Amino acid sequence: PVLKVALMGLGSYADRVAKAMQDCKRAKITGLISGTPSKLQSWGETYNVPDGSRYNYENFDAIKDNSEIDAVYIITPNALHHEQCLRVAAAGKHVICEKPMSINAKEGKEMVDACAKAGVKLLIGYRMHFEANTLNVVNMRKNGDLGDVKFFQGLSGFKIGDPTQWRLDKDLAGGGAMMDIGIYAINGARYMVGEEPIWVTAQEVKTDPVKFKEGVDETITFQLGFPSGAIASCLSTYSMNYLDKFFLNGDKGFAEMQPSTGYGPIKAWSHKGDITLPHVTHQTTQMDQMAAIIHDDSKPQIPVDGEEGLKDMKIIDAIMLAVKSGQKVKLDLA
Ligand code: NAD
Repeated sequence: PVLKVALMGLGSYADRVAKAMQDCKRAKITGLISGTPSKLQSWGETYNVPDGSRYNYENFDAIKDNSEIDAVYIITPNALHHEQCLRVAAAGKHVICEKPMSINAKEGKEMVDACAKAGVKLLIGYRMHFEANTLNVVNMRKNGDLGDVKFFQGLSGFKIGDPTQWRLDKDLAGGGAMMDIGIYAINGARYMVGEEPIWVTAQEVKTDPVKFKEGVDETITFQLGFPSGAIASCLSTYSMNYLDKFFLNGDKGFAEMQPSTGYGPIKAWSHKGDITLPHVTHQTTQMDQMAAIIHDDSKPQIPVDGEEGLKDMKIIDAIMLAVKSGQKVKLDLA
């Protein structure tokens, strides 16, 4: 069966997802949720979503009676995900939620619990977990091509523009670059190394305290330690363009990706040479695969469930604590 998806929050990323979904074989847009009537009208016409499947933020709980909606894809500012997820779960629909799943681990845990209680699935919009080059590098590591993994470097950033946008408002963003883009280096470290980190250290630099207010991080470097002794060294920033690189090294060889998490094409190479695989629009693959997870209970190679999102939130909480305290913070993700 085709997964019938309602999109919530018709902003710029939802636009990208909607366009990519036109090529999906297993997922289609059947509902829209927005606070802007003119967007409901124009998106409704573009994607053939009838009046009866268009909702606003006051009345969307009524999706519970709409058999044309199986799942809601939440694509709103970060701090809104928690409450919206709880309402979608209460309406008995599966939740696909953009990253970061929430603004802290406490809220993330409540989302996981609410979806479990409601008997619906919770998936996080981790598009890279389905991307062919990413999976290829993970498989090289699993096959032993790199030997014993010793080191990962994840550099994730861009130079942010408009100072009035929600991404620079702590109340809506829950933080700064780390929540938004640093999270790619965090979960990249986990799936590239193939272990869960047991400690974190972190340092913050702020060059523009007017643009990056209290609680909105501009640049953070952080280090993760893994049980095998492997270490990761990462950078999250809102102050550098074209910072998008993953590097994984073992005792036998390396794999490198740059760009590593942008919309693509991703480029990859290793000690063996160029290993770049053809580009496929990430969100098309993601939504077809998520349909298989929801309908067939298929297991993706790199998980995208709520528990996976929650681990990243626990690491972000620990990074913020490490920045504040200047101390190494222990992690227990098991
Ligand atoms: P955006 O500003 O372009 O869109 C956000 C939408 O939410 C807008 O349509 C806005 O009207 C709506 N909205 C609803 N309630 C709002 C409120 N109270 N205040 C402000 N806006 C409100 O942002 P975006 O870039 O589309 O990001 C949305 C989410 O998607 C974020 O969580 C972000 O992290 C995530 N995202 C993920 C990726 C990815 O590659 N996976 C890429 C971009 C964004």
